[in-house]
Amino acid sequence: MLQAGIVGLPNVGKSTLFNALTRSRKAEAANYPFCTIEPNVGVVEVPDERLQPLREIAKTQVVIPAAIEFVDIAGLVAGASEGEGLGNKFLANIREVDAIVHVVRCFEDDDVIHNMGSVDPIRDIEVINTELVLADLQSAEMQLEKNRRKAKGNDKEAVALVALLERLVPHLNDGKPAVTLELNDEEEKVMKNLCLLSGKKVLYACNVSEEDLSKGSNEYTEKVATWANEHHGAGSCVICARIEEELSELSPEEAAEYLESLDVKGSGVSTLIRGAYALLGLASYFTAGEKEVRAWTFTQGMKAPQCAGVIHTDFEKTFIKAEVVSYEDLVAAGGVPAARDAGKYRLEGKEYLFKDGDVALFKTGA
Ligand code: GDP
Repeated sequence: MLQAGIVGLPNVGKSTLFNALTRSRKAEAANYPFCTIEPNVGVVEVPDERLQPLREIAKTQVVIPAAIEFVDIAGLVAGASEGEGLGNKFLANIREVDAIVHVVRCFEDDDVIHNMGSVDPIRDIEVINTELVLADLQSAEMQLEKNRRKAKGNDKEAVALVALLERLVPHLNDGKPAVTLELNDEEEKVMKNLCLLSGKKVLYACNVSEEDLSKGSNEYTEKVATWANEHHGAGSCVICARIEEELSELSPEEAAEYLESLDVKGSGVSTLIRGAYALLGLASYFTAGEKEVRAWTFTQGMKAPQCAGVIHTDFEKTFIKAEVVSYEDLVAAGGVPAARDAGKYRLEGKEYLFKDGDVALFKTGA
């Protein structure tokens, strides 16, 4: 299962957000046998409003949403790349996740001590990003030295790696994250193998006060949005971790009432989960039968056999064909027989690229 790591300076609201995410959207672990079981890892359902209409069409009671894992990576401070705090351990934790949710303090509250003395989200972001870039710089310089020797012996891989590292090292030296270096397809593959911390995609989560939530933004969140876009090619969202934590303790009806009283549309946690899902380049296809309706996660660009393999690894090898209808066509027809009569079902082979919202039935061999 794909993992998103929650990072940020101390006291910005990471644990509050992690608790809110894992309590309000906690997934039934039995449905996801391969998830990690550790105290700082939470399996979280991906909200999807298409599941209920599908449940009605399939006439089943069981709905299993897609899920992703969130990891609470506490304690990153300035100097982590030098081993400050529990530096190395946290950097190792970040290396393992697929994407980063970077929580930024955008609320004033004299009762909550600020690790850097004042609220200044861009400075805070840069403190963390500098640590990631410095750690990457160390490893890129080491790799460069090692591979320069190999490249002299005309090792093709080493030559390509050295060419990339010679562009990457000055880029990192300028304080820029690896993710903003322009790459062609070949370089993209080489870069992936380097497993760099600043090469991961980031969603900035602006943690605002209870009062600012209904406004949807404040002067800090606007700065973060602009900065994220210009300096990181990244997106941002606005949440109030404290309210989300309170919401997570209420029933769905009470939560809806509370949100209304705050003049807030929908839960920020849902926006954040969907944002992380999109950030990871993920999409969902569905299976819908009498037993259950279920959303399955795939990476955009995956073909039919690989998508079948998401359900069971054997299905990738034994794939014969997939019967596919789009969610929109199925719902517009109002049911399976009507969609069939309207000719909306297609038989797709091994080369078919799955799309978000496909409803599929796989035919596999022995
Ligand atoms: P972490 O160190 O980043 O994990 O931060 P915590 O989640 O432990 O939060 C630190 C403190 O900030 C706690 O006292 C929280 O109650 C408080 N806090 C978190 N989010 C908010 C918020 O949205 N508004 C306010 N006023 N306080 C918050």
